[in-house]
Amino acid sequence: MAASDDAGDVGAGQGKGGPGPGSRRVLIADDSPFILRMLEKMLTGAGLEVVKAKDGLEAIELAMASPDVRLIILDVMMPRMNGYQACRLLKTEPTTRGLPVVILTSRDQAGDRFWGLETGADHFITKDSEPQRILDLVTSILDAQERTGNLPTRSRASAKADPEASSVDVLSRINELLDRKLFEATVLSEIGRVARSLVSFDETVRSVMSLVARAVDFSLGALAFVDDDGVEIAMLLTRPLHSSVVEEARGLMLERLVQQRDGVPFARINHKQYAAPEGSGPEEQALGGFLAVPVVTAGKVTGMLALGGKATGRASQETEAFLAQVSNQAMIVLDNARLFDRVRNLSIRDGLTGVFNRRHVMEVLAIEFERTQRYGGELGVIMVDIDHFKKINDQYHHQAGDHVIREVARLLGEGMRNVDAVGRYGGEEFIAVLPHTSDAGARLTAERVRKAVESYQFKVGPDKQVTCTVSIGIATAPADSIRTAADLVREADKALYKAKESGRNRVV
Ligand code: GH3
Ligand code: MG
Ligand code: MG
Repeated sequence: MAASDDAGDVGAGQGKGGPGPGSRRVLIADDSPFILRMLEKMLTGAGLEVVKAKDGLEAIELAMASPDVRLIILDVMMPRMNGYQACRLLKTEPTTRGLPVVILTSRDQAGDRFWGLETGADHFITKDSEPQRILDLVTSILDAQERTGNLPTRSRASAKADPEASSVDVLSRINELLDRKLFEATVLSEIGRVARSLVSFDETVRSVMSLVARAVDFSLGALAFVDDDGVEIAMLLTRPLHSSVVEEARGLMLERLVQQRDGVPFARINHKQYAAPEGSGPEEQALGGFLAVPVVTAGKVTGMLALGGKATGRASQETEAFLAQVSNQAMIVLDNARLFDRVRNLSIRDGLTGVFNRRHVMEVLAIEFERTQRYGGELGVIMVDIDHFKKINDQYHHQAGDHVIREVARLLGEGMRNVDAVGRYGGEEFIAVLPHTSDAGARLTAERVRKAVESYQFKVGPDKQVTCTVSIGIATAPADSIRTAADLVREADKALYKAKESGRNRVV
């Protein structure tokens, strides 16, 4: 062992009787022989046993190899591996995790302290403190261990602290740890990249979940966003699952979330589901395992990352801790994406009716028109104008007019397929773009809308209802007169004009 020549007294103490309850053994790592000697003298003078290491790597080797060390003091600046790196590794490795770590720093700077806390250090003390303060700290930690019966040596001896651990073993363990840390840091920074790429919420959910999948295999991944009274759940399947399995996972997730709110149920639950990719295997009939990590912001649960599937039940403590970090990061990223979606929606939708605005629906039309030009197929456009709308405005009031416009937009949307795009073309005029639609198909749709409006009762006052009608013009491509998307709109407009001229409430 690398330590044996430098710290011969370690070998002597080790293995002899194992950890006796009376052994108060402290490991000190410092690259300065002077400081080492000084601390050793002080601690042995107080009846403690001391093990010395001259850098962080040696400190880890010794800590892993000797089950009877009860406390570690680490200098910050040391060759090969500094105190923070050593501390992080000690706090990650199961056999040394329980050992208190005191960081001995010559600088008492906030940055140092922050980084030290990040790595899991338990205490800080500056080198220029009174020697008595250092001794007091060490003895108080050891006293507390004895008083509470919480000796780290016992758990470590029964665990796999290994007196024979060679430095090669130790190094390979360190390598594994570093590798995992690197992996985790990479995943977290990838999530950060997703944030900067500013894509839709749906795409962001997929990206984040595929990053989580690098750490844990799952068949169902869910994210929950909690606000005061409601929760939004986005659930992504990586394999087809029976609906009862999805329901079970959803139930478990809600149960945990409600628990975190002291049993207060949600007034509103929104659920969004992303199906498994096609051909990803047969439908699974059981969840297998479930793992949930809450996201806590300012003491309140604001969300949750949950995973279901066989492997999730076996996730290690390290994986769970990592997922907690991921879920926090993911929540921030997804909140941004939600905001982005909202802003984007604002820019493409009409404020009064919620259907697309003119600019966006014209963009959709241009894209669809180009598609038919390139790949063939038909495209229909229908223009809808409310008949004698001025009368409604004049007779009732402007708000009643607004209401009629909103309701007509809604009826129009309901008469369409998902692929059709409805937009507000002007005041009380709408346009719908119908991909893959023949003249006959467009006529059918238009007729359906016309009838729906005609038979609808519009509420224009507390107990006042009116009816109104629409005139509709249709044009479809391909046709001789149509070379551009603008031609298509012009032809539909002409047809609308004819519908008005020939008596309104009709389709031309
Ligand atoms: P027709 O189309 O049958 O020929 O008659 P019309 O009365 O509907 O004719 P026109 O298109 O000239 O009138 C449309 C009116 O719609 C004029 C305008 O004041 C009103 N309008 C436009 N935008 C809005 C709106 O956002 N809210 C309300 N309440 N009225 C609007
Ligand atoms: Mg009109
Ligand atoms: Mg008009």
